[in-house]
Amino acid sequence: MKDTFLHKGMRRKLVETLRLKGIADEAVLEAINAVPRHLFMDSGFIDHAYVDKAFPIAADQTISQPYTVARQTELLQVKEGDKILEIGTGSGYQCAVLLEMGAMVYTIERQNELFKKSKLFLPKIGYRPKKMIFGDGYIGLEEFAPYDGVIVTAGAPYVPNPLLAQLKVGGRLVIPVGKNVQIMTVFTRKSPTEFEKKEYGEFRFVPLLEDKN
Ligand code: SAH
Repeated sequence: MKDTFLHKGMRRKLVETLRLKGIADEAVLEAINAVPRHLFMDSGFIDHAYVDKAFPIAADQTISQPYTVARQTELLQVKEGDKILEIGTGSGYQCAVLLEMGAMVYTIERQNELFKKSKLFLPKIGYRPKKMIFGDGYIGLEEFAPYDGVIVTAGAPYVPNPLLAQLKVGGRLVIPVGKNVQIMTVFTRKSPTEFEKKEYGEFRFVPLLEDKN
């Protein structure tokens, strides 16, 4: 598990690509520059780690495209020490980016294979989420609520109410909503009963699944 000069150079190029595509938050770009994405991919795909594309991981899932990770992280407006809930741990890459930003991360995954893999892997390369949970993201994680931010990294056919309910006032839910194509949507909690909704264009995710296998 090496992070060579070659990898670091490719990562800097990826960061420049993301800048050209419109990512402006320097803290997000720095986090992308810091996380060795190639280590989160199966060896057969390592050559593709620093192109701006999604790639297969285990259990028919994908590691999100770097642009998507950067955009969602930017929309979440993470500050040092923020308590963030992530739905869909997957490879753990997005989680590592959030940890680089100084967030305390709680993350949920429903595929046992991915859950077990990421739970072992993240600490091995120095990333320590507060909690990694094997469970269903539709219900969020009430036990540690409220959160400064909730990020959903799979396509949600609708907005699960518990995820809104578990936000602090001032907190944000970043969620791609839709069946075949998703609209990146941000809900900001304005008061205990009011939410502001904003939309940020089309994305494509693997689905947020409702029934456990
Ligand atoms: N954040 C991940 C992206 C993985 S893709 C990364 O950086 O690699 C989306 C993930 O959401 C998959 O791992 C999938 O298993 C998971 N998922 C799908 N439905 C879910 C649900 N209901 N609860 C929690 N995780 C879910």
